[in-house]
Amino acid sequence: MQTNCIKNLLDLKDVFIKNVKNLKDKIEIYVELPHHEQICPYCGAITSKVHDYYTQTIKDIPIYFKPTNLIYHKRRYECKNCEKKFFENNSIISKYQRRTTRLTGFAINELRNLVSQADVARKTNISPSVISKMLPYLAVTNSSLPRVLCIDEFKGNTGHYKYQVALINGETHEVVDILECRQKHSLCEYFKNFSQEQLDNVKYFVTDLWETYKDIAFTYFRKAKIIADHFHFARYACNTVNDIRISVQKNLPKNQRKYFKHSRKLLLSRQCNLTDEQKDELSYILINYSEDLRIAYREKELLLDIIHSNDDFETKSKSFSDWVKRNLESPVIQLQECAKTYQHWYTEIKNSLEVPYSNGATEGFNNKIKVLKRVSFGMRSFKNFKARILLLNR
Ligand SMILES: [Zn+2]
Repeated sequence: MQTNCIKNLLDLKDVFIKNVKNLKDKIEIYVELPHHEQICPYCGAITSKVHDYYTQTIKDIPIYFKPTNLIYHKRRYECKNCEKKFFENNSIISKYQRRTTRLTGFAINELRNLVSQADVARKTNISPSVISKMLPYLAVTNSSLPRVLCIDEFKGNTGHYKYQVALINGETHEVVDILECRQKHSLCEYFKNFSQEQLDNVKYFVTDLWETYKDIAFTYFRKAKIIADHFHFARYACNTVNDIRISVQKNLPKNQRKYFKHSRKLLLSRQCNLTDEQKDELSYILINYSEDLRIAYREKELLLDIIHSNDDFETKSKSFSDWVKRNLESPVIQLQECAKTYQHWYTEIKNSLEVPYSNGATEGFNNKIKVLKRVSFGMRSFKNFKARILLLNR
């Protein structure tokens, strides 16, 4: 009765539990299989003659946070027909393994959390090097490409490169794949592995304003609309405001700088998100310091209004054209530059006003990666890094 309880608790079917030792630093569970007739793997004859026993230590899922081993008393049978010896069939462990399948599953589950591999090794009682060797096998990626493909780089600092590339499904926000480097040749190397049919499945390709990605889209995704990510292109207008703010601040006498110190947050936030008090402070800054700053701020707000407006596409598109036209002739040089960039990406930005897709999903993804890098004190192996990211996001 008691052994049955333990068997149920441990979920070990078809085995006899001979003994359980609760030692100071580990738990040992002594197991044995029932004596059965066996089919000889060499000649197919049936035998039940035991030749000898062999004791195997198998790591299992920790119990009450203690490393736990199954001490398996393994029978070796002898075939009466061909006289060859062989070990009994068992459901506990596959050949050449030193841990149970469920311990491997437990470790994989632990690797889904934002913890270091060393932590997982400690918790599972599997050595860090074994965990490291397991990881590349877990980096399984989808062989198909999604309808909405978002491409974005992030600073992973792993392998040989500073920046890695994340491919994300723009509709489900699932990570499609992680690429080691953002250079054109390596992106081509990657995408050429897909069939034309798979490439044509991509109907929207969401990217920041980076020429290489646009080239890749033109080469491989001929059926896709290229969408400029609005978070990225809006940043140009925000940076314009910030650049002017910095130059204004630099030219202020020291005693006036302190009144200007909240200006960054006030100028870069959306006006509708400010409190009344902050709005007053902002007006003071806009009225008193620089005409360029005032103009740049107004244009930034107008651009964001267009992006976030609920108007129909035609109206938004017209407002955007007007914005670019107006700012190409702006008295503020930095705004002219911004408008020129937008003119260069005119089609892609307009496309973005028509659909709800953006690289916004990669924001949360980037935060997770930062934490993963911090808890792991950096990740040197790209393959392992990739496996961890894929496990985290699925
Ligand atoms: Zn035999």
